[in-house]
Amino acid sequence: MTGEIERLLKLQDKDQECATLAAQIKHLTEQRARLAKRREGELARIEEMRRTLEELERESRQRNLEVDDLDMQIHAYQKQLDEGIISFKEMEALREKIANQRARMSAMEDEALMLMDRIVEEKENLARAEEELKERLSEIAAEEEELASRIDGVERALAAARAAREEIAGRLSPSLLSRYENLRRSFPDPVVPVKNGICTGCKLRVSGYTVERARNTAEIVTCENCSRILYIR
Ligand SMILES: [Zn+2]
Repeated sequence: MTGEIERLLKLQDKDQECATLAAQIKHLTEQRARLAKRREGELARIEEMRRTLEELERESRQRNLEVDDLDMQIHAYQKQLDEGIISFKEMEALREKIANQRARMSAMEDEALMLMDRIVEEKENLARAEEELKERLSEIAAEEEELASRIDGVERALAAARAAREEIAGRLSPSLLSRYENLRRSFPDPVVPVKNGICTGCKLRVSGYTVERARNTAEIVTCENCSRILYIR
């Protein structure tokens, strides 16, 4: 194996290391995005509960206002009755109105009570959910912190691998480097050994002449099928 092939193999190792590290960063970054989604989901759930509670409180206030309103009307009718300066027929009509309003008021008071029960229940649910939320958010924050430090570590390793790669690349002849880089656009392994007459890149047999050249000459020999650079250990 010539010195150039050895340098090419080192370059290839570094390139593969860089690719592995970049893939790790991508994976960790995706994990981080999933965590952010989880946080959003947790917050949205609580927000929904708060909205439900607000809606119930609004309804409850509305019901109480309506009850007050009816009460005032009943009092007004009652006053008219008590003052008695109206006809018997009008009095009858007023009594009927009062009875109707009382029935409506009683139904509304029942509704108002039911709403208050639900509000108490929803408030308890919300308080529990908010406690759980605190826990979940701190779990998410801890996971995020751990991920951030892992990403940081891998990014530093990648920067070091890239620097080492550039250093090795600088020791190769520019023409060989550009041949290698062209091949690398098609293959993750542009430099492969020949084993038993077979190119281990494309798994096809190469000619005996190619094997001989790979074994005996200092020149760079390529696979006649896939064009990868060949060597024999
Ligand atoms: Zn091949």
